[in-house]
Amino acid sequence: MAEQWIFMNGGFVKKEDAKISVYDHGFLYGDGVFEGIRAYDGNVFRLKEHLVRLLDSAKSILLQIPYTLDELSDIVVQTLQKNELQDGYIRLVVSRGQGDLGLDPFKCKDPQVIVIAEKLALFPEALYEKGLNIVTVASRRNRSDVLSPKVKSLNYLNNILVKIEASLAGVPEALMLNDQGYVAEGSADNIFIVRNNKIMTPPGYVGALEGITRNAIMELAIDKGYDMTEQVFTRHDVYTADEVFLTGTAAEVIAVVDVDGRTIGEGVPGPVTQELLQDFRQLVIRDGVKIGTSNSEVS
Ligand code: PMP
Repeated sequence: MAEQWIFMNGGFVKKEDAKISVYDHGFLYGDGVFEGIRAYDGNVFRLKEHLVRLLDSAKSILLQIPYTLDELSDIVVQTLQKNELQDGYIRLVVSRGQGDLGLDPFKCKDPQVIVIAEKLALFPEALYEKGLNIVTVASRRNRSDVLSPKVKSLNYLNNILVKIEASLAGVPEALMLNDQGYVAEGSADNIFIVRNNKIMTPPGYVGALEGITRNAIMELAIDKGYDMTEQVFTRHDVYTADEVFLTGTAAEVIAVVDVDGRTIGEGVPGPVTQELLQDFRQLVIRDGVKIGTSNSEVS
């Protein structure tokens, strides 16, 4: 098997040598930020948007990333090149770095920037053809005024609790509500509902991460002339929708055909979901940063 190279400490190291300190606050406290990015056929999809979200998340938690957006962009591209990947999943992690056992992040002087690129284990195509069964879980989304869901932090416990509940219920994803009972998102995906050709997704302040895929789907829907709105809605609206689908970097666009035992529409992926998935798959190969256009060198 080909060697896997990880970017860390300003250069590339072999996977087995890519190690961080047990005193790193990313490890001790989940103190850091991350992005999940995807490359399609030599194109990194919406790399700039991902990096802007990363830099915003870092700014929000007062974490100084020692690279500019352009430098980070080059590092991502070079990590793909180094691993000879045209298609792949990229995990960009910035942890607060090594400190002591106390919480104080100001004692961490050296944030760690780590980029991992590997082949994506895609969901089986059959899941896209069949659609997902999901359930609503008891865990609620972090309140946006307590820990903003816009911060894509390394503290994913809220989402992990949701994933545990989904797994215990025997389903691959879950519906997460916010503290007021409105629909927020899945454990790692945004949610859309379709009724009478009108498409709705919850606004960010309800408690959803502003997903890059979500934004691309909203643009595609508007381009297609759909009535596309960000709107607060409840489980009732989900149960009675004609179509429900989830979006995310890994999942792309995937239909949900059953929620809490209520069959959605005809119980199969609907036409709007299928159309937007097709459009999205065309978009990702023409709308991105080309691997090979990087100019600055990283050692
Ligand atoms: N919500 C959460 C909580 C997520 O972790 C993700 C995955 N990053 C998403 C939504 C989807 O976002 P994106 O389309 O940017 O991958």
